[in-house]
Order: sequence, then structure tokens, then C-alpha cells
Amino acid sequence: MTEVRVRFAPSPTGYLHVGGARTALFNWLYARHHGGTFILRIEDTDRTRSTEEAIEQILESMHWLGLDWDEFYRQTDRLEVHRRAAQELLKKGAAYEHEGAVWFRVPKSGVTVVEDLLLGRVEFQNPELKDLVILRSDGTPTYNFACVVDDSDMGVTHVIRGDDHLNNTPKQILIYRALGRELPKFAHLPMILGPDKTKLSKRHGAVSVLEYRRRGFLPEALINFFARLGWSHGDQEIFSREELIELFDLPGVGKSAAVFDEQKLLWINHEWLRRADLERLAKLLGEFIVQEGIATPEEVAGLGEGKLRRAAELLRERNKTLVAMAHAAAFLFPRELPWPEEAGELLAKKELAEPLEEIAAALEACEDFSPQGVEQAVRGALERLELPLKAVAQAVRVAITGRTVSPGLFDVISLAGMELTVARLRAAARRLGEKGEG
Ligand code: GLU
Repeated sequence: MTEVRVRFAPSPTGYLHVGGARTALFNWLYARHHGGTFILRIEDTDRTRSTEEAIEQILESMHWLGLDWDEFYRQTDRLEVHRRAAQELLKKGAAYEHEGAVWFRVPKSGVTVVEDLLLGRVEFQNPELKDLVILRSDGTPTYNFACVVDDSDMGVTHVIRGDDHLNNTPKQILIYRALGRELPKFAHLPMILGPDKTKLSKRHGAVSVLEYRRRGFLPEALINFFARLGWSHGDQEIFSREELIELFDLPGVGKSAAVFDEQKLLWINHEWLRRADLERLAKLLGEFIVQEGIATPEEVAGLGEGKLRRAAELLRERNKTLVAMAHAAAFLFPRELPWPEEAGELLAKKELAEPLEEIAAALEACEDFSPQGVEQAVRGALERLELPLKAVAQAVRVAITGRTVSPGLFDVISLAGMELTVARLRAAARRLGEKGEG
């Protein structure tokens, strides 16, 4: 059997989006599964639309996703090769010149058949395919032509790409034949639809891979999610990269369109946040706290590694992205935390002022600020007040975190530390007192 050689061939006209990333991943997985070669080829021959910035973004996205390539090409480095192939077609009479451009002559009769590994046999009537420009008048090759010359020269065995390219395939097959070159196998991946079942587009918030990074998604979650856009293995949803390499193959790719479901992506990200190594997660949490403008790098460093790690461990339970975790971590820093609206009724209770004062005093005197230590102090104060914990728990939570939902109360108190906790409880008590009198 010949070695598998596949490629991802993005045109650098914009960022790497969901569709492109899925194509890249499927090719990468196919190569890794079969012990083959994964080629990254930048298709930058359209000089009016390609940018260096887009190339950088694509490479950075691939790095971040962990999609490493074995060979790298830029199509513009191969312009001579493309021109020579065009000359060959001109000589053979398979191409002609018109208005400075070189055109490929499509046969005026007959049928071109695409034997697709996923779609089966697809027939195209040649008369419906029009002659196409292969070299523009500025001498640069067009996509359909450069793609064939390069896939053939690079020994690509399988062309795996989105089914939006299916209409290009018969033209490419005709060019292969005219050049006397061997055809690769083709596999056109099912379309990706938005939740409203129309083709996925910017309207659906289909953002770039790097935007997902900014929004606090883990690369392993995106890999897992992209893999499930058109591929399945029983009803399993969570796959590690290693599992995907082991299990991925073309027979697992379905024929019907995949639906992009942002809720599912959030769910998968949550699953991977919970599986993430804590040291790494703590570091990421620190970075996102800075990114979100919640604290400075110095303040984050000032927390110490242990505290950041503990915060990451607790906050990943109820938050689905690193951005959400970062915002939920705001209570770790000396800031005034606005109370959420939904806490309004709860905190309009004058009679809570005294218990909050008492608890503050007990915590101020507490020497062991571990979760167990602060629990003892708080319970002691409540015993003296003859109040159950639930009478004050929510008020204490909002006072310390500015939120009605948080990790366990004693964990939160311990993490916030004595100074912040006591100051916030006293400020809350004052505020409640004023409210009652006013
Ligand atoms: N440059 C083309 C694109 O980005 C590549 C298509 C292909 O894989 O042949 O859509």
C-alpha cells in the first residue's frame, strides 16, 4: 500500500474559521491514523486577496490547536512550476491563450465522473462545465490549476475537503487527465450548518479559531468539537486527541450535514476544563484574569500559586469557559464588587447587619484560615447568635463574592483571605443597616 499523503490547503484571505479548522483536523487525523504525511500548503496565488497577516493567523491557529505539519509549501514559491505546466497544456492543445490569459479547454461533450469516497459516484455533464482560466494575464495560476499541479507534484493520495468544492472536482479531474497525471482519491466532507439549518456563516457567530481561544475555550475542547462535526464513533461525545488518532477514519464520516451547536461546544469545553491538569489551568486562569482586565499581572502573581490553583479547581466546577472562570475569580482581588440585581431582595434585610458584624469579628479573630478553620469560626458565631447557617449564607456569599452563585462558602472565605472577607462583611453590614433605616 502506498503511504497516505494528505494536505490542508487554505487560501490566506481571512482567519481560520470553523469550516477550515474542521478540514485541517480531518486531514491531520487521517494522516496520523494511517502513519502518513500531513502537508500544509498556503494557496496564496491570488495576490489581490491574500495577506501575510492571514497566513500568520492560520499558522498560529494551527499551532494552538496542535495540528503540526510534516511539510510546508507556499504556492507562490512554485509559480515557475505552474507556468511550465500551463505551457505543456498549450503545447498539447488542451489550453489556449485569450486576452493575455491562458484558458483550459473543457471537452464539449461527455461526462466526467467523480468517484467520491464519501458521496459515491457523482456525474457532471462536460458541456455544463465552462472553459476556465488557468493562468491570469499577470501570469499567476488560478486555484483549480495550481491545486492540481501541486497535489500531483506533492504526491497527495487523498484530497479531503469541504463539499463546497465538489463542483471544482470535475474540472480538476479534466486537468489531471490533460496533464497525463494520476488522480488522487477524493473525499468531500459534509457541509456545516448553523442551528437554523442554513449554511454556517458569520451570522451564526461562526468565529475564528483564535477568537475561540480569546473566549476561553481549550484547544482540546475545540479539537473534540470539530471532530464531531461530521464524524462519529457510536454515541461517544468526549474524545482525547490520542483517541481520535486511534479511531478516526473516513468510514466514520457521515453523509448528512453537521450542525454547529454552540451549547454543545460549551458543554464539551466544560468537560475538558474539568479534566485539565491543575497547574496548567491555574496558569491559564491567571492569564485570563489579566486579559479580562480583572487584575494586573502583579496582582495575580501576588496571589501565589497555591491560591490560584485552588481557585482554578473550585471555579471550573460551575464555569464553562476560562473567561467565565476569570470573572468569577474577581473576589480574590481588593475591589469593590457591585452586588448583582438578583441579590436585591435578599440583602434588603436590616436584621442581617448584626450577624454579618458578628461573623466578621469571629473571622478577624480566626487564626486558621483554612476552609475548616473558617467554618469553625463561622459556626461558632452562628451558635452564639442562635441562627442556622442558611439564614445568613447567601448574604455572606454576596458580600464576599458579589455573586449569588459561587463555590462552597468556606472555600470562598478561605480563598478571599481574612482582610478582604472582614472588610467586605463589614461594608455589607453597614449597607444593610443604612437600608433598613432609610
Ligand atoms: N484554497 C482552497 C480553499 O481554501 C483549497 C481547496 C482544496 O482543498 O482544494 O478553499
